[in-house]
Amino acid sequence: MATSRKLERAFQIAMDAALKSSCTRSRCGAAIILNDIIIATGANITPDGAPPTCIKDISRNKKYSTDEHCCIHAEQVAIIRALRHRIDISGATLFFARLDREGNHIPAGELKCTTCSKLALFAGIKNWVLYMRAGTFGNDENTYMEFDAVEYNRISFLKVYSEAIENGGNNQHPHVKTKGIVK
Ligand SMILES: [Zn+2]
Ligand SMILES: [Zn+2]
Repeated sequence: MATSRKLERAFQIAMDAALKSSCTRSRCGAAIILNDIIIATGANITPDGAPPTCIKDISRNKKYSTDEHCCIHAEQVAIIRALRHRIDISGATLFFARLDREGNHIPAGELKCTTCSKLALFAGIKNWVLYMRAGTFGNDENTYMEFDAVEYNRISFLKVYSEAIENGGNNQHPHVKTKGIVK
């Protein structure tokens, strides 16, 4: 897919977006890019009017692991922003970046957010690109990986995938497939 320079640029945009995160628990950014055009960006934030907090225990919805606090995820913010502007994002790629407290780019966690994966799929996102921890999908080092949105959604629902991660990754897992490493 992208050349190194395009990839670098896409992640710079996603990381810049993450700097606007208002979440006290994690700093995430997303950039939606279609035909080399930046369509929308987002960070994890609380919507105007919502309780201005992301304390985990504030939500009653404890059984729903992806909705434990008041923030909207960066991916959702970017998708909804595009749609609010009536932009068709069919076929677009979503780049997701996570920062530590110091603003350094760190690998994305486990791909388990079914809320974002479903929304992205329904909104027409074609591919996801994330910076993944070494060993997650048989990658030797932390690396950028691309996923088809259908497969990404499937992975997010796979308990077996979570178990593979807990066991330190499994590079021969037959149930999980990526579109490979992106350079
Ligand atoms: Zn939060
Ligand atoms: Zn999410």
